[in-house]
Amino acid sequence: MTIQEQYNHLEKTIRGYNPSADFSHIRTAFEYADKCHDGQKRKSGEPYIIHPLAVAQIVAEELKLDSESIEAALLHDVIEDTPAEHADVSRLFSPTIADLVEGVSKLTRIQYATKEDEQMENLRKMLIAMSKDIRVILIKISDRLHNMRTMEYQSPEKQKQKSLETMEIYAPISHRLGMQRMKWELEDLSLKYLDPVGYQEIVSRLEAKKTEYDIFMQKTRAQVETRLDELDIPHLVYGRVKHPYSIYRKMFSQNKNLDEIFDLFAFRVIVDNVGDCYNVLGVVHDIFTPLLGRFKDYIGTPKPNGYQSLHTTVMGTDGIPFEVQIRTRDMHEVSEYGVAAHWKYKQNGQGAGAEGKYEWVRRLLENQEGADAEEFIHSLKIDMFADEVFVFTPNGDVQNLPAGATPIDFAYAIHSAVGNRMVGAKVNGRIVTFDHPLKSGDIVEILTSKGAKGPSRDWIKIAKSNEARSKIRQWFKKERRDENIVNGRAAFEAELKHCGLTMKDLLGPDRLPGLLKKVTYPTLDDMYAAIGYGGFTAQKAVSRMQGELQRIAKQQAEKQALETLENAPKAEESRSSSPKQVKSEQGIIVEGLDNCLVKFSKCCTPVPGDEIVGFITRGYGVSVHRSDCPNASPERRADPALSGRWIKVSWGSDTNESYPTTLEVVAKDRLNLLLDVSAALSTTKTFVSGIQCRSTDDGFAIARMEIRVRDGEQMHTIINKLNQISGVLQVTRPSG
Ligand code: MN
Repeated sequence: MTIQEQYNHLEKTIRGYNPSADFSHIRTAFEYADKCHDGQKRKSGEPYIIHPLAVAQIVAEELKLDSESIEAALLHDVIEDTPAEHADVSRLFSPTIADLVEGVSKLTRIQYATKEDEQMENLRKMLIAMSKDIRVILIKISDRLHNMRTMEYQSPEKQKQKSLETMEIYAPISHRLGMQRMKWELEDLSLKYLDPVGYQEIVSRLEAKKTEYDIFMQKTRAQVETRLDELDIPHLVYGRVKHPYSIYRKMFSQNKNLDEIFDLFAFRVIVDNVGDCYNVLGVVHDIFTPLLGRFKDYIGTPKPNGYQSLHTTVMGTDGIPFEVQIRTRDMHEVSEYGVAAHWKYKQNGQGAGAEGKYEWVRRLLENQEGADAEEFIHSLKIDMFADEVFVFTPNGDVQNLPAGATPIDFAYAIHSAVGNRMVGAKVNGRIVTFDHPLKSGDIVEILTSKGAKGPSRDWIKIAKSNEARSKIRQWFKKERRDENIVNGRAAFEAELKHCGLTMKDLLGPDRLPGLLKKVTYPTLDDMYAAIGYGGFTAQKAVSRMQGELQRIAKQQAEKQALETLENAPKAEESRSSSPKQVKSEQGIIVEGLDNCLVKFSKCCTPVPGDEIVGFITRGYGVSVHRSDCPNASPERRADPALSGRWIKVSWGSDTNESYPTTLEVVAKDRLNLLLDVSAALSTTKTFVSGIQCRSTDDGFAIARMEIRVRDGEQMHTIINKLNQISGVLQVTRPSG
């Protein structure tokens, strides 16, 4: 066929469904495209114009689209591949046609890479969203179909790459838009290059059995038609062998060879109305034996893409099973040509058909009420994903964001850390402001810095996605929360200290839950945050915990008493001759009080030999401090508010085996410092329950050790030993 003949064929095809098409415009488009592509050749060696002509032919023949679509199909490669620009097409034809061509070119420019399923789905959506006008994607699919039909001239790598892309992107989009016929062809052509051996096996097998299959189909068809004629049900019956990719997929998913594939044949019965669909089903089930579990009513429950039909599989004569699909003419049009079918209906003034199934088409129709068909087509935009934009990360992943999304939304969609450290953004390589609205297909890059100050409050207003907004709010809440926790904790611990308790006394699975229950906070941090924020006070916290704290204090005292008792015989032995002393508790004699609860304050951890003083707490007995402890400072002791609560205490002779206390070593930081400290503790036979060591920025190390000592004398020895370590500047007993 010459180029001119091919063009005439196109005109004839269009005339067949749209006699009032603007043929002079279409011819101008053809001639302009021919001129633009003059001298260009396809890989096959043919003049380039063959391709746009063939695409227009598909658009007309398969989809029966309007004049604008035909013109755009003819012109679809002029912006991408020739010097012609959007303005030229717009001036010579129309802005709409120029937009259609530009839209197709944009889709052509997208680079695909195989990704995981979710990414592929986003890519598909992006393509549809970028199309804006649905005709763009329809022309693009037609373009791809022709390229796949002529793929034999491309290099093997290109064949594989394009086929994979077709299989993963274009065939599923065709399916989504309801265009089954084009979907099949795209799948079969892709399979041919993706698995040539598997494809060839199926095709040659089908060819070899063609006569046999044809006879079977004719016979079966006749059986059905005869019965329907008798019943006076108007009908059309088609029989076909299933397409190679569908057979291929079944062989794979069911792990079967070609002979074992269940239903190689499919019959289609087209009737006038839904009632007849069910009548035909009855007839089919009467003539043939239905296979259990193979009946599906997609008329009652349509598929998500709007597909409607009755499906059943029956056993034919000769024991060959086959599938029967029964549907009305309207349903058939929709299943074959999908979205395009709706168009045609509207165009021909036949109403919108089954548009209810296409939610978005229905919405469009509502918006178009009163508008004429032409206007409807012009404004038919894809609003399937109108409230979403799809943008690329620099490495080609697709992010799905709400319409109007900004770089802020994008950054937080990647990760809150990216958002919190964002200092700038680039779109398609150019620096943009944070409120720059993103468009589908944009490549967005976020510039971050470790030193970023974090989000600003304005960002909450700029961000379009709830995700970004809530992450920004979280950041502010958390920032403050950290601060609040620090302050709240300090206040709480100070209050505890008053009572001679430390955090250590509170922690532990047998204690903390009970205490938290008293203050009704789920965690200590939550309580601290509340105290820091001012919603709660440390005094209240301690007073609510009081009962529980008393129980803990008592428990500890009992435990220690038990330990003392166990050690008693030994003590008795060594001190058998010593005169009976005034009764003491844990080695402490409290003036004027017998048998009272004694607690060693954790702030200064006194040991026998230290000068000590007692403080009567509310409900926890006497708390013992070193006289030099800031918490027992002369000022505090003179405080009239606390007067009468300070009490004289002294060490008895029956002191405990050991007392917990704390030492702090400040040293010039050096290698093995901690090793030497440990060695010193070990040679003095010191019981160590914990060491914490930290380096300061200016080259010093501070080691804090929790130890147990018998008395001040042992303590003195340990301090001396630690002081001898090279680099040690100071050894102290912390207090306050
Ligand atoms: Mn093309």
